[in-house]
Amino acid sequence: MYQAPLPEEYVSRSPEETRRKIQDAKAALGSRVVILGHHYQRDEIIEHADYRGDSFKLAKDANRHPDAEFIVFCGVHFMAESADILTPDSMKVILPNLAAGCSMADMANLFQVRSAWRQIEEIVGSGSGSRPALVPVTYINSAANLKAFVGERGGTVCTSTNAPMAVKWALDQGDRLIFFPDQHLGRNTGAKLGYDPDADMCVWDPFKPLGGNSPEQLLSSKFILWKGHCSVHQRFTVEQVEIAKQADPQVNIIVHPECPIEVVRLAPYVGSTEYIIRTVTEAPSGTSWAVGTEINLVNRLANENPDKKITCLDPMICPCSTMYRIHPSFLSWALDSILAGNPVNVIEVPPKVKHFAKLALDRMLSLI
Ligand code: SF4
Repeated sequence: MYQAPLPEEYVSRSPEETRRKIQDAKAALGSRVVILGHHYQRDEIIEHADYRGDSFKLAKDANRHPDAEFIVFCGVHFMAESADILTPDSMKVILPNLAAGCSMADMANLFQVRSAWRQIEEIVGSGSGSRPALVPVTYINSAANLKAFVGERGGTVCTSTNAPMAVKWALDQGDRLIFFPDQHLGRNTGAKLGYDPDADMCVWDPFKPLGGNSPEQLLSSKFILWKGHCSVHQRFTVEQVEIAKQADPQVNIIVHPECPIEVVRLAPYVGSTEYIIRTVTEAPSGTSWAVGTEINLVNRLANENPDKKITCLDPMICPCSTMYRIHPSFLSWALDSILAGNPVNVIEVPPKVKHFAKLALDRMLSLI
C-alpha cells in the first residue's frame, strides 16, 4: 500500500531524539495504547514493545488489554488485519507504515485464488455427499479477504506451529487441499505427515492454465501447493548447512518450515519462530546453533544467550525488507497522531470480510 512521506520534523530528528519522543508519547498515552513488536523488527522498535512475538501470539496478546483504545502493530499489513479481526471493535489497530506488506502474502490475491478454485473444481468436482473434493487452507500470512474466502468454504487458517494439525484436519474433511500462499510450509507439513512431495503434491502457478498441471496431476494430488514463498526463508540452502557443519561438526541446525524442503530435511530442529526461540534459549550452555530464519531475530537470540554460539546459516542474509519499513520515526509519528486525536493508518477490515475470516481463524483455534 502507498505510504505518504513523513513530515519533515520526524525525518530530521536524531535516533536519540526519536527514541525520547517515542518514550514520552508512550508515557502520555499510558494504558490507552498497546505496542506490539514482531520478532523480526529491529531492536530500536522492540525496545518500545509491550509484547513481542510472532503474528498469532501478538494478536492474542492484544486481546489481553480489552480496555486499550489502540493497538500499534509493529509488523506487516496482514498481521494488523488479523489483530483487527481478533480484537473487539472498540480497539483501533494502527500500522505505523502502510508500505510494510509481506511479499509472500502478496503472492496470492483473491482474484487468483477464486480463479484457481474454479479451475480445480471443474476437474475434481465438488465431492460426494458431505465430503468435499477440495478444502482450502491458508497460512496466517495472507490477506484478510483470503482468510474470508477460506472461512466461507469450510476451510481453516494455520500458523507455522499448528500447520500439521490444520492439514490433517483438512484431509479428514475432504479429498485434497489447496494450500496458500507458501508452498514450502505446505510441502514440509505434508512430508512431516508422511506424504510424498513428488507423488502426492503438485504446485499451482497462478500465471499458467490449470496452474501448470495436467488434469491427472490435479486428480491424483492430495496437496495443491500455491507457488508462493518467503523471500527471507527461501534463501537458505543445502550448501550453507554443509558449510556450517564443516566449520563446526557439533553445530545444531535449526530452521523455520518456510525454508525449502532440502534444507528442512538436513535440520534436526524445525519449527516456528517461537519454537526456535524456545529451543535455543533452553539449550545447554556451550552449545552452538546455526539458525535458518530472519537476521534481526538471530542477532537478538545471540545477544540474549551469550553462553551459546549462535549464528545465522546465511552470513549474507538481509532483514525482512518489508518489516524493516517500520522505522522508529514512523512509530513516533503514529503515537503522536493518537495524542493529537487524529490517528493515522488505522487498519479496518470490512465487516463481511471480518465475519468470514473470523470463522476460519476460530476454526483453527478450535483445533488447538
Ligand atoms: S519474513 Fe517472509 S513471511 Fe515474514 S513478513 Fe517477511 S516476507 Fe513475509
